[in-house]
Amino acid sequence: TLTLGIVGLPNVGKSTLFNALTKADVLAANYPFATIEPNVGVVPLPDPRLDRLAQLFSSVKTVPATVSFVDIAGIVKGASEGAGLGNKFLANIREADAICQVVRVFADDDVVHVDGKVDPLADVETINTELILADLQTLEKAVPRLEKEARNAKDRKPVLDAAKAAQVLLDSGRTLFSAPKTGSDAIDLGLLRELSLMTTKPFLYVFNADESVLTDDDKRAELTAAVAPADAVFLDAKVEFELLELDEESALELLESVGQAEPGLHALARAGFHTLGLQTYLTAGPKEARAWTIKQGATAPQAAGVIHTDFERGFIKAEIVGYEDLLEAGSVAAARAAGKVRMEGKDYVMQDGDVVEFRFNV
Ligand code: GDP
Repeated sequence: TLTLGIVGLPNVGKSTLFNALTKADVLAANYPFATIEPNVGVVPLPDPRLDRLAQLFSSVKTVPATVSFVDIAGIVKGASEGAGLGNKFLANIREADAICQVVRVFADDDVVHVDGKVDPLADVETINTELILADLQTLEKAVPRLEKEARNAKDRKPVLDAAKAAQVLLDSGRTLFSAPKTGSDAIDLGLLRELSLMTTKPFLYVFNADESVLTDDDKRAELTAAVAPADAVFLDAKVEFELLELDEESALELLESVGQAEPGLHALARAGFHTLGLQTYLTAGPKEARAWTIKQGATAPQAAGVIHTDFERGFIKAEIVGYEDLLEAGSVAAARAAGKVRMEGKDYVMQDGDVVEFRFNV
């Protein structure tokens, strides 16, 4: 399972958000006796299509895709020098597949800010700087070794070149994730994978804001642009926790009062899923209507393999109907009669909204 590691300066609302995530934990809800890692929150990816499919197929239950967030012990300035929790912190981040930074935007004189004032983009810089310094240290050790290797083996030269280009970019204060993906100054991050650099991981920002910012489109646009190409989510962590204790009607009222149309955790789950490079496809039957998680760009056999490895090995073809087409037709039979059901082979790249039945040899 891919995970997002939650990081952030002290007192920005990480624990508050994480408590909301664990309270919304699908494992906790569905499997009361399952072992739940204390530092992992597994939240459902909201998908209204599942309920409609369950109606159509009279499914007993719906099973959403999930997104896993890991709580990582607090970062402090100087983490890259191994101060305090530094080393453990960096080791934990290395294990995460993406970095989710909680950033304080809310104003509250009763909550102390470590740097004395609320300045979201300065906080983003602080964390970036620690991660950039840690990567530079890794590269400083790696480059002499890569130089030696490149002298002996030609195929190591591209890795060396990528490592040197990474040093230049990091020295200019930028993360590798934000490096251009195409063009002459693009860096092939795939070549650097063996170095486990931290700033190559995709980033996601959670701006923990109060109503004044949640309803301020200009401010939100400004912060969103400042962290691009990373995804940005705006929510009020305290409200998110309170929402989970309310019935649906009161929850909607509370959301409206802070200018939100849906719980921030929904937006966070979607952004987390997107940041990890994931997508879903759908299956439906009398037992369940279900969303399955695959990598963006996965082929039909790879998608089948998520259900069972035998499905991938024995894959013959996939019978696919688009969710919208299926809904319009009203049943698979009607969709088939309308020519909307496609047979796809082993090279087919899965699309969002595909409702699938696999044919395979056992
Ligand atoms: P952490 O150190 O990042 O884990 O921060 P906490 O979650 O412990 O929050 C620090 C303090 O800020 C606590 O007193 C929270 O109640 C408060 N807090 C967290 N989120 C919000 C928020 O959205 N608005 C306000 N006003 N206070 C918050």
